[in-house]
Amino acid sequence: MTSTGTVTLVDFDEALTRYEPVMGLEVHIELNTESKMFCGCATNFGAEPNSNVCPVCLGLPGALPVVNGTAVESAIRIGLALNCEIAEWCRFARKNYFYPDMPKNFQTSQYDEPIAFNGWTEVDVDGETFRIEIERAHMEEDTGKSLHVGGATGRIHGADYSLVDFNRAGIPLIEIVTKTIVVPGHKAPAVARAYVNHLRDLIGGLGVSDVRMDQGSLRCDVNLSLRPVGREAFGTRTETKNVNSFKSVEQAARFEIQRQAALLDAGEVIVQETRHFHEKDGSTSPGREKSDAEDYRYFPEPDLAPIAASRQWVEELRATLPEPPADRRRRLQAEWEFSDLDMRDTVGAGALDLVAATIDAGAAPQAARKWWLGELARRANEAEVDLSTLDITPQQVAGIQALIDAGKINDKLARDVFDGVLAGEGSPEEVVAARGLEVVSDDGALSAAVDRAIDANPDVADKIRDGKVAAAGALIGAVMKEMRGQADAARVRELILEKLG
Ligand code: ADP
Ligand code: MG
Ligand code: ZN
Repeated sequence: MTSTGTVTLVDFDEALTRYEPVMGLEVHIELNTESKMFCGCATNFGAEPNSNVCPVCLGLPGALPVVNGTAVESAIRIGLALNCEIAEWCRFARKNYFYPDMPKNFQTSQYDEPIAFNGWTEVDVDGETFRIEIERAHMEEDTGKSLHVGGATGRIHGADYSLVDFNRAGIPLIEIVTKTIVVPGHKAPAVARAYVNHLRDLIGGLGVSDVRMDQGSLRCDVNLSLRPVGREAFGTRTETKNVNSFKSVEQAARFEIQRQAALLDAGEVIVQETRHFHEKDGSTSPGREKSDAEDYRYFPEPDLAPIAASRQWVEELRATLPEPPADRRRRLQAEWEFSDLDMRDTVGAGALDLVAATIDAGAAPQAARKWWLGELARRANEAEVDLSTLDITPQQVAGIQALIDAGKINDKLARDVFDGVLAGEGSPEEVVAARGLEVVSDDGALSAAVDRAIDANPDVADKIRDGKVAAAGALIGAVMKEMRGQADAARVRELILEKLG
C-alpha cells in the first residue's frame, strides 16, 4: 500500500474510532469585475482564445500594471463579510514559479501582508452551528488555461501538443484560507461542504462574483490530515486541488479520511502532496509533492503602489454589506412562521431564495414552500437538475397559487398547469386557457353531472337521504371523475346535499 498505488480504504466510521481529521480549506473566488486585476482587458467568460490580452497580462517587457480599484473594493467587502480585520496598509508580492500558462513567470499575489485577516464565519449542518476561523483573504490574479490536444485523458501526458489561452491570465481572484478546522470527525466532510456552500451564498449576496463552481469562479482546495485520537500534534496533510462541486468537497474529505487511515494503519507515512479529485468515483490521486518550505522567492511587488485603505472608506464599505445570511434566515423564519424543520428543509433544498421570491410575488409562505419542496423538487430530482434551473419563475409559481386562491383551479389541476408552464406553453393563465383546465363551477353543468351520479349510485343516495352525510364523498368522487377533476368540489357537495337533504 503506497500513496501512489490503490489502497484498500478503511470504513469511514471505523477510521474515526482511531483518528481525528483536521481540515483547512482554501477557496478561490473569481471576481466579476469588468476588467482584469492589473490591466484594462475584458474578463468575459468564453471569449475567443487570446482575445482578451494586452502587454500587461501577457507579461511583455516594460509593461506596467495598475491596480483595479473595484477589485480592491470587492476584496475589502469580502473581508468584512467574513468578519476580518482590514489591513491599514498592505502590498502585493511576487510569487515566483514557472508554469506555461503564467506568462510573467510570477503570480502577483499577497504574501505576509494580506488585505484581510483574522476573521470568522458560521455554518449550519443539520441544525448545528460550527464556527470557522478565517486566517486571511488576499488578492491575486488568475493564470491562463492550458489545453492538451490528443491523448486519451486531456492531461499533458500522452498529448500531441498543447495550446494556451491567456484570456483568464490576470482575472482578479480572492483567496480565502481558513485556519485549521477541528470538528467531530463524522461531521467533518459535511462541514467542509457546508462552508463552501455558505461562501457561495455569502459572497454571491455581495454581488462581487458569479460564484459558479461549475464555471470555475469558485474553486476549493481541501487540505486534510489525520492524527491519532488523543494526540495534539497535527499529522501530515494532503491538499486536494480544484474540487469543483459542493458534493465533491464532501467526497474528497471523506475519501482522504478513509485513504489516510489505511496508510497510517499499515504504519506508512502520509506524503505531503497535492492530489487530484476524480468525479467519476469520488477518489483522489497523487499530484505533486509539496513541502511547507516551498521556496517561491516571494518579494514585494516593486511596480505597484501599496494599498492603504482609509478607515473611513472601510466603514463606508461595511455599510454596503447585505444582511448576513444567518440573520436573514432567522428573520424570514419568524416572518413566515416556519417551524425549524420547515426552514431546515427549505434551506437544505436550496430553495430559500426561490421561496422568498414566490412569497414576495404574493403567495402565502406555506403554499410557496409546498410547491417548491414538493411538486417542483420532485421534478428537479427526476431530471437530476438544480431546483433553480427549472424553467419556471417564482412569479409563475405565485401566479398558479393565485389561480387556486381565486377558485379557478384546484391543487390537482395545478399540477397540469405546472406541466404546461415547465413545457414552455406560456404563463399560468395561458396554460389554463389553452389546456382547458379551469374548474367548472357553472351550476347547469354541475347539476346535470350530480343527477347522473345520483342515478348511477342509488344506494349511496339513499344513505345520504337517511342523514349519512359522509357518504356524499362517493358521489363527489363520481362527479369529479366524470369531469376529469375539473369540478368545483365545494359546489358539488352543496348541490348533492340540496338535492338529497
Ligand atoms: P499552501 O501554500 O500550502 O496552500 P496555505 O497556508 O495557503 O498553504 O493553506 C494551508 C491550509 O491548510 C490552511 O487552511 C491551513 O489551515 C491548513 N492546514 C495547515 N496544516 C494542516 C494540517 N496539518 N492538517 C490539515 N490542514 C492543515
Ligand atoms: Mg494556498
Ligand atoms: Zn491585459
